[in-house]
Amino acid sequence: MQPFPVSGCNSRRLKPYLLLPVLIFLACNSRPLPPPPTDALANAYPKNLILLIGDGMGLTQVSTAIYDLEEKAMYDRFPVIGLQKTHSASDLVTDSGASATAIACGIKTYNHAIGVGLDTLPRMSILEMAEAEGMASGVIATASIVHATPAAFYAHHWMRVEYEAIALHLLDSGIDFFVGGGKKYFDRRADERDLIDELREKGYSIRDYFDTDLSAALINPAKKFGYFSADNRPVAAIQGRNYLPKATRMGMDYLEKSSEKGFFLMVEGSQIDWTCHSNKPNQLKAELKDFNEAIQEALKFYIDHPNTLIVLTADHETGGLAINKGSKAKRLDLEFTTNGHTATMVPVFAIGPGSQYFNGIYDNTELHKRLLKAMGWTSG
Ligand code: MG
Ligand code: ZN
Repeated sequence: MQPFPVSGCNSRRLKPYLLLPVLIFLACNSRPLPPPPTDALANAYPKNLILLIGDGMGLTQVSTAIYDLEEKAMYDRFPVIGLQKTHSASDLVTDSGASATAIACGIKTYNHAIGVGLDTLPRMSILEMAEAEGMASGVIATASIVHATPAAFYAHHWMRVEYEAIALHLLDSGIDFFVGGGKKYFDRRADERDLIDELREKGYSIRDYFDTDLSAALINPAKKFGYFSADNRPVAAIQGRNYLPKATRMGMDYLEKSSEKGFFLMVEGSQIDWTCHSNKPNQLKAELKDFNEAIQEALKFYIDHPNTLIVLTADHETGGLAINKGSKAKRLDLEFTTNGHTATMVPVFAIGPGSQYFNGIYDNTELHKRLLKAMGWTSG
């Protein structure tokens, strides 16, 4: 049994044929969890690491996805669950800069920092470690590519809102595949440099939403690939943005061919956070559905490539979300208690070799250490 629809089910003996599509649908949608890795794989180091981050996705956001999407929700496919404490060095309530830096670089830092410590000096990120190991790397976001969460994986800058400075770091990051918004920070800059031209000189094929739809973009396997999904912020899922699952699938397929040593890919459902800041339940549900489809793509990849570790988590909770009395599945009465972030712990879901390290309650910096341990990059 497969855990969810991957390819058609084989039910040739069933008649009448008119019932077949219904039966296939039912069978495909009531499938159990993915099989655990075999002992041999469980004890091996993963070849690929996929980190899925729902920005602002606390336990109530996950519950919302589960009650709203019901059997389509992917969260119960992960056999290992943990809880992560998200506080920064400066505040119990973190921002996305400090929390992404904690996950990417393993250090507690001040709110608004990107890949730097309290001393504002750079710390190596897990993406940079993967590059140093000869792995391919990718970053995908539904925010701009220079926004805090993706930035903390490739940039080192003292202040998150200096997007033009952060864009410079992408040039030298060695990232093989990126998709996100923020084109204007590359080609309409105060310093008048055209970083898109510079990326092309460095061997990237760069496309954008203006010249082609992402699905139609042909990826040259001999080149690195970057796609700008917006000039600044990509539109919301409820307005029709749907590239995240596609980009995730394209990224995994491309990166898998890019290096024999495997890949690191970070995928962010960026706008879950934004819909919670603005206290918009329907917009939140659309973002959770979109992110869930990206999770599904990663799990499909895992079924075909069980030497892949997938860790799904959040950087913090946003909105202090509650599901109120009187709610029913698909008819949730959602209420927010703040338009900011909260300090509630956020869930961690893991599957694949090394996933056994992710149960328990731990800090976001410890999440980083466990990622390294799972990859075999530390002796601890
Ligand atoms: Mg973010
Ligand atoms: Zn936020």
